[in-house]
Amino acid sequence: MIFRQLFEKESSTYTYILADEGTLEGVIIDPVRETLTRDLQLIEELGIRLLYTLETHVHADHVTAAASIRQKTGAQVVLGAETKVPTADLLLKDDDVLHFGGHTLRAIHTPGHTDGCTCYQIEDRVFTGDTLLIRGCGRTDFQSGSAPLLFASIRSKLFALPDSTLVFPGHDYTGKTCSSIAEEKKFNPRVKLTNTVEQFVEIMANLKLSPPAKIAEAVPANMKSGIS
Ligand code: FE
Repeated sequence: MIFRQLFEKESSTYTYILADEGTLEGVIIDPVRETLTRDLQLIEELGIRLLYTLETHVHADHVTAAASIRQKTGAQVVLGAETKVPTADLLLKDDDVLHFGGHTLRAIHTPGHTDGCTCYQIEDRVFTGDTLLIRGCGRTDFQSGSAPLLFASIRSKLFALPDSTLVFPGHDYTGKTCSSIAEEKKFNPRVKLTNTVEQFVEIMANLKLSPPAKIAEAVPANMKSGIS
């Protein structure tokens, strides 16, 4: 499988490109407006025929490039059903699958950071968006966030995946690129197996984070897949 992890430095966002080596059918996960040209160039250089742009959720910290990519490549815009994004081509429910070449991608509905958060599992990898970060998780204080729900999503759905599953998050702020389910069960200070839901809720209630700089622009724009 062709696999690339790309980084947008202003919002510390990871974008992923995956494609079948034989058919060159592929997908892009969480593309960012600022890095549209770079990503389209790579897709073209690799000869990838993009079928889907997958969004892990309606982002609050950056504007998506999904609609622009659809315009340039014809790739369908895909989100979790609970996002209710009207400009999406496909809204996936929990356990729905999509195919590209010989590969299957499965949607895992993981509400908690936002109500529409969806992770995508492709074979031995899971793309977790902001649901599960490396040694962290997304915040739960806006966009229908819920700490108990996030805890349940991570524990019952993500931690149910094989321990060897590689975790590719939506962001990292410290330079880490990849983890595994086993690693996060053991070392994630918020959701490790020795923590209770009560401990998690308390940790999340005491984060005292300032709102994302772009939230007022990003959320309405992303509800339209970035169409300006
Ligand atoms: Fe987010």
